[in-house]
Amino acid sequence: MTRSNHRKKKSARWHQTQNRDGFVREANRLSLRSRSYFKLEELNRKFSVVKDGMSVLDLGAAPGGWSQYASRIVGENGRMVAVDLLNMKPLHNVHFLQLDITAENATEQIQAVLRNSPVDVVVSDMAPNITGIASTDVLNFENLQAPMFKICTGVLRIGGSLIFKAFRDSESIKLKQKCRLQFEQCEFFKPKASRSRSSEFYVIAKNFKNPEQIL
Ligand code: SAM
Repeated sequence: MTRSNHRKKKSARWHQTQNRDGFVREANRLSLRSRSYFKLEELNRKFSVVKDGMSVLDLGAAPGGWSQYASRIVGENGRMVAVDLLNMKPLHNVHFLQLDITAENATEQIQAVLRNSPVDVVVSDMAPNITGIASTDVLNFENLQAPMFKICTGVLRIGGSLIFKAFRDSESIKLKQKCRLQFEQCEFFKPKASRSRSSEFYVIAKNFKNPEQIL
């Protein structure tokens, strides 16, 4: 099979899966930015992390499903800052910053947008482009975790919460131990909108306690 035929077949398969997916249909019907909206919605219904009036930082926000959900919950009195490597179309009540979070001064750039005022919640659905080579994908993903924790340490208020995407692999057990160094409570959860064939799950970490200790 030629490379172009392979690409066409892959794209046809992707469209077929999207069409069959009830969450995609519902997201389109409600004009949501992405089906991921439903993941944060379920996580928040279960764990009550994002609330009216809070300030929230969304890392890896494009195309904007999580920001759309969180900005509705925090409302006009809350504050939403969204960050992504890619550009994102404007959303009401969301301040967008286009930034690679692995950049050396990423924390400082985000702090400047926040005017040094700490946030109540950090959410991160960040994921690198999938190459299909498992070892590379795991490594690329892990390379995003340290900068994400560094940013949390720089912007999250004591008592605040963090929700982030992770993937099941040999290291995921250790994740809970690491998490408990900085948060009182740490739970794993896979929402229904997360495809069952995907090894992704989410970590819900509550009550940030130690900004000095790097995970
Ligand atoms: N939560 C989003 C939503 O609801 O629409 C979907 C997020 S998508 C799964 C993952 C995002 O992580 C991509 O938009 C990607 O550009 C972003 N990302 C990956 N690496 C990044 C980096 N180094 N800095 C900032 N964003 C990054």
